[in-house]
Amino acid sequence: MQLPTYDDVIAAAARLEGHAHRTPVLRSTTADEQWGARFFFKCENFQRMGAFKFRGAFNALSKFDATQRKGGVIAFSSGNHAQAIALSARLLSMPAVIVMPKDAPAAKVAATKGYGAEVVMYDRFTEDREALTRRLAQERGMTMIPPYDHPDVLTGQGTAVKELIEETGPLDHLFVCLGGGGLLSGSALSARALAPGCKVYGVEPEAGNDGQQSFQAGKIVHIETPKTIADGAQTQHLGGYTFGIIKRDVNDIFTVTDDQLVEAMRFFAERMKMVVEPTGCLAFAGAIAAREAIAGQRVGIVISGGNVDLSRYAALLA
Ligand SMILES: *Cc1c(COP(=O)(O)O)cnc(C)c1O
Repeated sequence: MQLPTYDDVIAAAARLEGHAHRTPVLRSTTADEQWGARFFFKCENFQRMGAFKFRGAFNALSKFDATQRKGGVIAFSSGNHAQAIALSARLLSMPAVIVMPKDAPAAKVAATKGYGAEVVMYDRFTEDREALTRRLAQERGMTMIPPYDHPDVLTGQGTAVKELIEETGPLDHLFVCLGGGGLLSGSALSARALAPGCKVYGVEPEAGNDGQQSFQAGKIVHIETPKTIADGAQTQHLGGYTFGIIKRDVNDIFTVTDDQLVEAMRFFAERMKMVVEPTGCLAFAGAIAAREAIAGQRVGIVISGGNVDLSRYAALLA
């Protein structure tokens, strides 16, 4: 397997130019004083459709040839990948089908349809979504784009940390949330190239530490779907591409509890006036937990997204 490189991240950045937002890097004196480090927050909650996933999706779809564009794209997701694919397909004028479970939140189904995608529902308990997606892809001549384990997806995700380090200069530490590893592997490619001395860490929910187990075992470990409020990180295993890069370029993988996520979420709301979804809080929660190791140093935090149902958000903060 040929792993993508930082050159592929540079090429992705050129494709995203003028299409993705260059999201702000925010500082917080309160955070710096409270936890004793210098934090640089890369705010992908302000990315188009509300999460970094637009980067990977748009990059992947931009590389389709004429035949692929005509057939369009198909993906299975009930989360941010669905909206990222739907929006990117609309911008690039190609058809999109998103396969979603029948019990997906109505707001997510509506958002995906709102971007112009066709939503095909399946029953989570009786149907195999991968088999269904493959069959539809074949019948309709569509190209399937997975949420993380694809070179064009992960190198697109890597453009966020490229922007971050270009803006801040070298960092000592970088914390990135970890689900299937698209964001972490792409971020590691950028950090290794732009700040060779920067330590890169993935942060996972404690209930779903398959990435940490895989990192320690040196091979991909599969787990049951974890129970956590970090719904964007409920993955069961890393992918071949993402793990290949993570095991080579990442320094360590940490875990945090749901309570620690809520603490970070409350801080973003109260002190930085930002709505961040639970999964988007993983990196900062991990940095807070590691505060002794990062004391007085320059620390990059990737805030991955801000898509959370407001009644759920209020209930978590109550
Ligand atoms: C998808 C997602 C993640 C996890 O990203 P991976 O590339 O699967 O590791 C984290 N945060 C948010 C907001 C997401 O949508």
